[in-house]
Amino acid sequence: MHKAVILTIGDELLIGQTIDTNSAWMGGELNKLGIRIEEKIAIQDTREGIISGIERAMSKANIVLITGGLGPTKDDITKKVMADHFGMKMKFDEPTWERIEGLFARWGRSTTPAHRDQCYMPDGAKILENKMGTAPGMLFEVDGKMLISMPGVPYEMKYIMEYSVLPMLEENYTDQAIIHHTILTAGEGESRIAAQIEDITERLPEHISIAYLPNLGTVKLRLTAIGKDKNKLTEEVKVYGSQIENILGDLVYGHNQENLPSVIGKIALEKKLKIGTAESCTGGLVASKIVSIPGSSAYFEGSVVTYSYKLKETLLNVNTDTLNKQGAVSEETVNEMVAGAIDHLGVDVAVAISGIAGPGGGTEEKPVGTVWIACGNKKKTVTLKIKAGKNRQKNIEYASNYAMNVLRKFLQAQ
Ligand code: ATP
Ligand code: MG
Repeated sequence: MHKAVILTIGDELLIGQTIDTNSAWMGGELNKLGIRIEEKIAIQDTREGIISGIERAMSKANIVLITGGLGPTKDDITKKVMADHFGMKMKFDEPTWERIEGLFARWGRSTTPAHRDQCYMPDGAKILENKMGTAPGMLFEVDGKMLISMPGVPYEMKYIMEYSVLPMLEENYTDQAIIHHTILTAGEGESRIAAQIEDITERLPEHISIAYLPNLGTVKLRLTAIGKDKNKLTEEVKVYGSQIENILGDLVYGHNQENLPSVIGKIALEKKLKIGTAESCTGGLVASKIVSIPGSSAYFEGSVVTYSYKLKETLLNVNTDTLNKQGAVSEETVNEMVAGAIDHLGVDVAVAISGIAGPGGGTEEKPVGTVWIACGNKKKTVTLKIKAGKNRQKNIEYASNYAMNVLRKFLQAQ
């Protein structure tokens, strides 16, 4: 049987300033996989503390999960101490730097020299991607044991666990059969979905669990069944999965590896419909997502990005009157954008988006995050207004996901 030790690092944990929720969560996840947790150790942020913790952990187990002390500040020394201890040199990791620069560009902030320093990684450790923050995780293989170091921030740790560590443990460190089934939803938030399917999730047997993985405008529901009999698990997950889908109805857009653009492509092909987009605040992002699918030229004609009043008028025939009276972010405008796109792009179905991405430009009546979406064909157009948040980049992402979902539903109804 595989054995694990969980090591949490940070003075704040010892003095009770932070409650260690990380090890509770990690312990639960390891237990599900049938990996025995030998010990949990909490240690100070010092070189001696970290080294003695690592040595003790390695003497007890073959899997060591570590969180804390990976940030850009001086007191975050875990990485350096581990590299020294295992005799590894530090090497600049270009992909990590590019990712951090990308994150900061999106946040509209600039990096500091400390962020560049943060990209030096122990030569010999495998880097584990962290999309939620700057410090990636690291995997060390030493003396036949595996040590994984992750940031202390709980949602960053969970991201690395969900996307890198748990799949790897499932693959190599458990003799249990594990079945995943992912239901993809869009159009409703995590908590409302959870409330809708509570009757089912409360009845799930011990060996089947559900995880909610929310993104901007979409939520993945992942059912995981763990046990001995693979066929039985597959059958059980199927049964619970379809019960959940029956309740959620058309919030469900796909399964497992699918995504909104791939589902849109599948339906458009099936129904032989040509599609196009007319985009203002999303600046072509919906089009970009649609063309990320190989073969999209079979159903996607193209897009117009009309950011200004002028181009909305000249390229999409939106009435000057509509723009002046109702504003660019209005039901009337997106309606006319759809009609203009159907005409000018020569498509069967078009989707249009116009909104206030922020941070400026909001009013009391139309606050930042107000987005109008319309989708239609020659005969019929549906419109809806969404209220996103305050962050520009998130609003743009949210609006584009929402618009794709409106398009998906419209195509399905044809
Ligand atoms: P950062 O990049 O934010 O500095 P880090 O890897 O250096 O990340 P810490 O500095 O140790 O992590 O902690 C960052 C945050 O995560 C703090 O708010 C801390 O309270 C919290 N945290 C750290 N360890 C745990 C834990 N075991 N359980 C819950 N929260 C934790
Ligand atoms: Mg820190």
